[in-house]
Amino acid sequence: MEKKITPGDWTVHFFDDFDRFEIHTANDHDGTVIIADLGHDTEGPPEVREANAKAIAAVPDLIEALIGMMAHNRTDCNDRNCGSCSWCKAKTAIEKAGVL
Ligand SMILES: [Zn+2]
Repeated sequence: MEKKITPGDWTVHFFDDFDRFEIHTANDHDGTVIIADLGHDTEGPPEVREANAKAIAAVPDLIEALIGMMAHNRTDCNDRNCGSCSWCKAKTAIEKAGVL
């Protein structure tokens, strides 16, 4: 799979002093490779920002899983472009992510 996104496991970091969530790569030992900064306490409830951070951190795994499922289930969409079946929705989501 060709990835145009930052490779590696993405992890959620919480910074108490700023009440802020960030997404980093797992091998980011010096804290400089920031995938996303989800703002601080004035930008939404912490439980929502944490949930958003976890969803974003799962993106590389979700993309890999979708691509694998699509490759395994090549016959799921009978007409290949119905736009409403799970196979087509997975294809649309992968295209939206821009990794193919
Ligand atoms: Zn379809």
